[in-house]
Amino acid sequence: MRSIRTLAFGLLLPGLLMAAPRFEDKPKAAAHSMPKAHPVVGCSDTKKYHEPDCKWVKEIEKAGTRVDFPSISAAKKAHMKPCGDCMKKK
Ligand SMILES: [Zn+2]
Repeated sequence: MRSIRTLAFGLLLPGLLMAAPRFEDKPKAAAHSMPKAHPVVGCSDTKKYHEPDCKWVKEIEKAGTRVDFPSISAAKKAHMKPCGDCMKKK
């Protein structure tokens, strides 16, 4: 029966297609959990650093006190402290 073989292939192929993006996601998730390669946004006024998507970053930009750091360790070297909102979740 040709239709059964086609059906089996039809089930296998989507499975392979679905598996591929998962492999791509894994290194991204691993990179995200590594704080050293993680850029952060500091505020020269409050001396705190934030996730780039933190709600406070908008306020920092409004105030014009935004300082970008390539990593958390770079922000710490500049005597920045972690934000209580976005950095707490890490
Ligand atoms: Zn924050």
